[in-house]
Amino acid sequence: MDCLFCKIIEGAIPAQKVYDDDDVLAFLDINPVAPEHILVIPKKHIAKMSELQEEDAPLMGKVMHVAAKVAEERGMAESGYRMVINNGRDGLQTVFHIHVHVLGKRKMSWPPG
Ligand code: AMP
Ligand code: ZN
Repeated sequence: MDCLFCKIIEGAIPAQKVYDDDDVLAFLDINPVAPEHILVIPKKHIAKMSELQEEDAPLMGKVMHVAAKVAEERGMAESGYRMVINNGRDGLQTVFHIHVHVLGKRKMSWPPG
């Protein structure tokens, strides 16, 4: 499958991994937009949020839990952080394998761009 994040999961493309188990992988974003910018992905290829099935709910729950734990391990629990999932064209999604952006170590703004 021609998916960048599946290739990272397979090890065909390198990444700076910060968490890895049978279901979930987290790695540093190659083009960070905050001092901390981590991507947390399910190892199952699901292209986007709008394609999620009910059976994927426990897996996505685990993705969110790992995202929170990684944020805590990297010292963001106290100061706070933002999690973002871009979906589809208007959401400006560029990689079509679901990923949670974990952004931290700077003050965010609202509304997002
Ligand atoms: P999105 O626009 O929400 O689809 O986010 C895709 C993210 O993947 C962007 O923040 C990119 O910087 C990031 N990205 C693209 N290629 C790589 C890569 N090889 N390793 C790590 N992050 C990547
Ligand atoms: Zn994929």
